[in-house]
Amino acid sequence: MVRVIVGANWGDEGKGKITDMLAEHSDLVVRFQGGANAGHTIINEFGKFALHLLPSGIFHPQVLNVIGPGVALDPEAFLSELESILARGIRHPKLAVSSRAQILMDFHILLDTLEEERLGGRKFGSTKSGIAPFYSDKYAKTGIQACELLDRDHLHERLTNSLEKKNVLMEHLYRHEALDAQLLTEKYYALGQRLKPFLADTSAILNDAVKAGKKILLEGQLGALRDPDHGIYPFTTSSSPLAGFAAVGAGIPPWAITEVIAVTKAYSSSVGAGVFPSMIMGDEAEELRRRGGDAGEYGAKTGRPRDVGWFDAVATRYGCLVQGATSLAMTNLDVLGYLDEIPVCVAYELDGNIIRHFPVTPDLKRVKPVYEALPGWKTDIRGETAYNKLPRECREYVETVQRLVGTPITILSTGPRREEICWRI
Ligand code: GDP
Repeated sequence: MVRVIVGANWGDEGKGKITDMLAEHSDLVVRFQGGANAGHTIINEFGKFALHLLPSGIFHPQVLNVIGPGVALDPEAFLSELESILARGIRHPKLAVSSRAQILMDFHILLDTLEEERLGGRKFGSTKSGIAPFYSDKYAKTGIQACELLDRDHLHERLTNSLEKKNVLMEHLYRHEALDAQLLTEKYYALGQRLKPFLADTSAILNDAVKAGKKILLEGQLGALRDPDHGIYPFTTSSSPLAGFAAVGAGIPPWAITEVIAVTKAYSSSVGAGVFPSMIMGDEAEELRRRGGDAGEYGAKTGRPRDVGWFDAVATRYGCLVQGATSLAMTNLDVLGYLDEIPVCVAYELDGNIIRHFPVTPDLKRVKPVYEALPGWKTDIRGETAYNKLPRECREYVETVQRLVGTPITILSTGPRREEICWRI
């Protein structure tokens, strides 16, 4: 059984909790794209953790956690996240990192930061984790794979070639001192030695696991609307967070994927720049932001306040479509218990016409949300695990959303903790 967990919206849908919960019953948990630029919040018996690069299976000693070749691997971030987990008393997790994973280097972070500064008001809301410069290097074939860190001379040569162009930008566009290939070679060679025990041919491991019928969980980051091809370009990320890419970024046969679980919140939230039609403002937003998530809606990576809004059925239907979702998990349902009425965005108005499809970015910027108000349940449902014990209005909310989105909602999350979950099958 191979399951993929992905975001149906802008990211931060609560995938970490769902992944952590399903990881308990998995043999392997795999990261297939992105880097340390987003964060999952996981709350379990060991405490609260914000994971950035480590797969969510690290709390379960039986799970082999895999970082696939599609991931942007910052070796320092990886090693320090691992150390911080161990320092909190978690048993050393089983970990395998693809030898083909590319290395996110200090200068990617520096370039990202300098570029956001240069762009000023025109910036794209980067987390300044170096993701865009990293993937630019990867596709320009000037990136460096983890396996290349192990040969000092080879590494020096590759870095020298890569820095030739970068140093022109550094000195003449950003007015920054040039980067030194020798210093970088020493630093990353040393990091390569520390990474070496984790490096493996993860595609071979995964293909063997598929053949052996193991339970594999592929863990996506961000959400469908951040996909560079299908999302709200250019307010997207630089690698595909789609389930379809999971096969590539992990190194697993596409036909092996049996289930695609898209995750959405019971309302909407988005961190970073971009277009968000059902966003709300003022006191109404402040209240939802304060009540959302486990400690308010603030980015797990950046601490930035997230934009919040009502559930957007148009965006989520589209998100499920591009993800190829076979089912939907809805998180943060407990958060809405304070409202008399809950607006749901059922369509958009574009230039006087009602549309139900998710348009291209220039049109999306002009749409106005069309709301339908559903009755609230005015009850604290936190921790409820039985669907039929939820208030009638709450079940109607879930069923209306399911009808609007057209994907079965099989998992409802009623609180941030692992056990606060309600299955609907
Ligand atoms: P991810 O990147 O998709 O894993 O999402 P995040 O972890 O960044 O954001 C989800 C937030 O919602 C975190 O603060 C979680 O602890 C919290 N969360 C997840 N599920 C629930 C839920 O059902 N109820 C509440 N109140 N918080 C939840």
